[in-house]
Amino acid sequence: MEFIFEMPTKIVAGANCIVTHSELLRRGKTALIVTGKSSAKKNGAYADVVAALTKEKITHILFDQVEENPSLETLERAKNMAATADFVIGIGGGSPLDAAKGIAIMLKHPDIGADNLIGGEKLDAVPVIAVPTTAGTGSEVTQYAIFTDHKRKTKINYGHKVFPEVAFLDATYMLNMPLGITRYTALDALSHLVESYLNTKSNAMSEVYVRMGLELLATCFKPLLSGNLSLEIRQKLLLASTYGGIAIAQTGTSLPHTCGYSLTYYENMPHGASNAILYRAYLQSFENQERVNDILQWLNQANIDELGDIIELLLAEYKIHCLEQDLKKYTDITFSNKTKLTNHPENATWDMIFDIYKKSVL
Ligand code: NAP
Ligand code: ZN
Repeated sequence: MEFIFEMPTKIVAGANCIVTHSELLRRGKTALIVTGKSSAKKNGAYADVVAALTKEKITHILFDQVEENPSLETLERAKNMAATADFVIGIGGGSPLDAAKGIAIMLKHPDIGADNLIGGEKLDAVPVIAVPTTAGTGSEVTQYAIFTDHKRKTKINYGHKVFPEVAFLDATYMLNMPLGITRYTALDALSHLVESYLNTKSNAMSEVYVRMGLELLATCFKPLLSGNLSLEIRQKLLLASTYGGIAIAQTGTSLPHTCGYSLTYYENMPHGASNAILYRAYLQSFENQERVNDILQWLNQANIDELGDIIELLLAEYKIHCLEQDLKKYTDITFSNKTKLTNHPENATWDMIFDIYKKSVL
C-alpha cells in the first residue's frame, strides 16, 4: 500500500459558522470577495461574510461578475480592480470558487495575466477562503480550478495547486436553491465520488470518503426526485459534495468529466448535467464490473439501469441531442486529453468514448 493523502483545507461547518468563526478570516487588511451575479446576495452568504469582516475590522472590495464556467477574460477584469487585496474570499458555486483561486494567483504574481494562467510552472497564491453555496463541485476542498478558454475553445484545469485555506460549510445558503440546480449539482458530487473510485489513482484513504459520500447520497435520491428538500437533506448533500471534493483532490476525475467539458462548451449544458448524462453508458462500458458493483451497493441500487433511470429523471429538463458529426469532434477532443485518460482503469479507445456519447446524447 502506497499513497499520499493531502487535505490542507480547514473545514468549518454549521449554521452561521462564518460569523461565529470570523477570526479565521484574519489574512490581511483588505479582502477581495468574488461572487456570481446575484445568488450570494439573495441567500445571505454575502451578508454573513461582510458581517464577519466588519467584526474583524477587515475592509473589502467586491467583484460580483463571475459567470457560470468562468472565462479567463473575467479573471482579468477582477484582477484589474483588486490590486490592493491581501486575500480572496470566494462565495458561490464552483464558478466563483474557481475564479477566486485564479485571481489569487494573479494577485500574488501581478505580472501574470489571465492569458498565461493556464499551465506552465506551478504558482502559489494569496490566501483563498471558500464559501460554497452549491452542493456539487467540492471546489472548497480541491486544488483545481476550471476555466473557459475561448482561445483553446474548451474548458480547462489551470494546472496550479491552490487549496482554499478555510472552507465554511453552511447549508442554510442552499435552502432556496432552484430544484434544477440542486439536482445537477448533486449529480456532480455523485460523479466526483464515482470517478474517484473508478480511477487508477484511487487509494485506501480516498475510498473512505467515496463510500461515505455515496452512502449519504443514497439517502438523498428520494428527496431530490420529489423536490422535498429539508435543511437536513441539504446538509447531507453538502457533506457528500465536500467528501467528493476531498476524494478527487487525491485522484482527479475521469472520462465523464473530460467528455462533459465539450457538452458544456459547445452545447451549453450545466457542468453537473454534462457528466451525469453519460453515466449509464459510462458504467456499462467497464469490462470488469467489480468496482461498479461496489458503487451500486453503496448507492443502494440493484443495477446500472436502476441508477441510470434515477439520473435520467433528475436530468429531465437538461436532456440534449447532439449531431453525430459533433459527437465525433467531441470524441477527438476527449481522446486527445491523454493525461486524463490515464485515470481510466481500462483501455479508453476512441470508439468506446464515441459509443458513450452516442448512447447518451445522440
Ligand atoms: P455555478 O456555475 O457556480 O452556479 C450555477 C448557478 O447556480 C448560477 O446561476 C448561480 O447563481 C446559482 N447558485 C449558486 N448558489 C446558489 C444558491 N445557494 N441558491 C440559488 N442559486 C445558486 O455552478 P456549480 O455547478 O456549482 O459550478 C460549476 C463550475 O465548477 C464549473 O465551471 C465546473 O467546471 C467547476 N468545477 C470545479 C471543480 C473543482 O474542483 N475546482 C470541481 C467540479 C466543477 P449566481 O451566478 O448568481 O451566483
Ligand atoms: Zn464536476
